[in-house]
Parts: sequence; C-alpha cells; structure tokens
Amino acid sequence: AKSNDRKSDPAPNTVCGITISNPDKEMWPAADGAAVSKLDLARYLETVGPWMLDHIKGRPCSVIRAPDGIKGETFFQRHAMRGISDEIDIVRISGDREPYIEVNSVDGLVALGQIAALEFHPWNCEPFDPDVPGRLVFDLDPGLDVEFARVVDAANELRERLENVGLVSFCKTTGGKGLHVVTRLKPRRGDGIGWKEAKMFAGALCQQMAADDPSAYVIKMTKKLRKGRIFLDYLRNDRMATAVAPLSPRARPGATVSMPLTWTQVRKGLDPKRFTVHTVPDLIAKSKAWEDYASSGRPLGAAIKSLLGR
Ligand code: ATP
Ligand code: MN
Ligand code: MN
Repeated sequence: AKSNDRKSDPAPNTVCGITISNPDKEMWPAADGAAVSKLDLARYLETVGPWMLDHIKGRPCSVIRAPDGIKGETFFQRHAMRGISDEIDIVRISGDREPYIEVNSVDGLVALGQIAALEFHPWNCEPFDPDVPGRLVFDLDPGLDVEFARVVDAANELRERLENVGLVSFCKTTGGKGLHVVTRLKPRRGDGIGWKEAKMFAGALCQQMAADDPSAYVIKMTKKLRKGRIFLDYLRNDRMATAVAPLSPRARPGATVSMPLTWTQVRKGLDPKRFTVHTVPDLIAKSKAWEDYASSGRPLGAAIKSLLGR
C-alpha cells in the first residue's frame, strides 16, 4: 500500500511533504552493493521512522551528516544550527550554551535525511528528562583479530549477568564491528539514581566480567590492550554520551543498519552485514525483536544492591 501511496504523491521527490533536493545523489555509492540515493534514505526513514522514534524522541540527538555521501567529508553534529527545519525541535540543556537537536516526529527524521543526516545518535536518558538514565547501553568493541562469534558470546554472557541482577536486556547490531546490549530502566522519583550511579553500575558489571576472563575482555580504553580481546565499553552510560539508535543507518560501506535482534538471532552465524537500508524495512516488519522493550524496564537501584550489596 505504501509504495502505491508514493506513486500517487503529487510531487515525485517529496517524502512526508518534504521536498528532497538532489534526490538521485548517491549517499552510499554502488561500489559496495546497490547504491542508496538521498531519496532512498528519506523513504527508508519514513518507513522505519515510527519504530525508530520511540528510542529517539525527547532526547538530544546528534547526527552524522555526509553532504557528499559516505565517500566525502562527514561530520558529527550535536547542535542545532540557524535555518534548521521547523520539523526538528531545539532544546537547551544545562551545561551547554548551544541548543541541541531533538527529533519528535517522523517528519523530523525525514527533514534530517534531507540535510544528509545518515546516522542518528540519541542520549540514553528518559524522554524529556536529561538527568534521568532511561536505559543502559553496553557497547561491545572487538579488537583486531577477534572473530564475530566471540562478540556473540560476549553479548549472551552480558545478558545472563544482567538477568542475574534482575535486568532484562536486548541486543542489536551496530551496523559496524560490534554489538550493543541495551537494558531499559524504570526510574523511580527520588530514588537517587542518576548518571553517576548508572555509570558506576555498568562499570562494575563489566569489571566483574573482565576479571572472570581477562584473556577475552578488557575494560581499559587503551587500544594496545584490545588486540585479540573485546573492549567492554561501559562509558556510553553517561549524561551526554550517545549510542547509535536502533534502525539508524551507518555512514559506512554497504549502507548497514543498527538492527534490533531477538536473542535467538544472537548466535553463531549472525552476520551484521545482512542488515542494510535495502533489507531492513521488510525484515523489521516481520521481526519480533524488542517486542517487550517498552514494558521491560526495571529499577536500577535493586540491580545495584543485587550486584554490589549496597
Ligand atoms: P562499532 O560496532 O563499529 O563499534 P559503534 O556505534 O558501537 O560501532 P563506537 O566507536 O564503539 O561505535 O561508539 C559507540 C557510540 O559512541 C556510537 O554509537 C556513538 O553514538 C558514540 N560515539 C562514537 N564516537 C563518537 C564521537 N567521536 N563523538 C561522539 N560520540 C561518539
Ligand atoms: Mn562499539
Ligand atoms: Mn565504543
């Protein structure tokens, strides 16, 4: 039905009522699979936008823009600029004089696609509440010479460790080299759980995991230590830290996407390169991944007690 609607669209280069300039410009050139044009990107965002939005709305959201496609210069943009589309909200955050980009509608996503935003990187706070942690993201970064199957093992181990302290977790590809394990939190007013506690908890959990298998995991940033190991990057869990949004494309060859997975998919043979701007709209429509995400939040306070006995 969707594609028929588009054909009847009065203006052919219009998506969500937004005119896409340079619609044929190749954002991802054909060299690495079928090309993705700027119009393709806008249509992708329109299609998966409703699904993405739950994870983006109400939070400052940085974007990676690539005005000349991924082979050209790319830049990471946190702040709203003069002349930005009305579809995009502008928010002020304590601790920074410059206002941030916030996307609260599918039209806003498409408007950002129109200015060649290829990647979407929201904060991990509760919607409209920057000081309250809304989710934890464990960023698994394999060093050189680490087989992807080991990253899969790491994700499953993290899931179990989180479950052991009462937290429910979900996994997604990053569209890059690793995986993200994400845990929804249920904030309680006045429970004293802020970003300091969230980062401390994530760090302590990763520290235990690394201590139990130091040949497989590291929690130190030092690049040298990562060779042959997986860096458990818990530092995404801070007020101003971001992680790429579920279903965001990546400005990387092949137009890969950060794809939400079911835990059954997180096993040997998982190939993140399968998930692209071309394949994901159909795959996500059929997938049950992250179905229970919205209702999965648990209070972090209890998990901290369970992990650290305080
Ligand atoms: P990969 O699986 O290849 O590691 P990734 O998205 O996890 O992909 P990382 O480099 O591990 O990439 O970064 C994790 C997250 O941290 C990113 O998704 C992004 O939101 C944020 N990030 C990374 N680099 C920067 C940067 N230079 N400035 C701001 N945020 C960044
Ligand atoms: Mn990573
Ligand atoms: Mn990282």
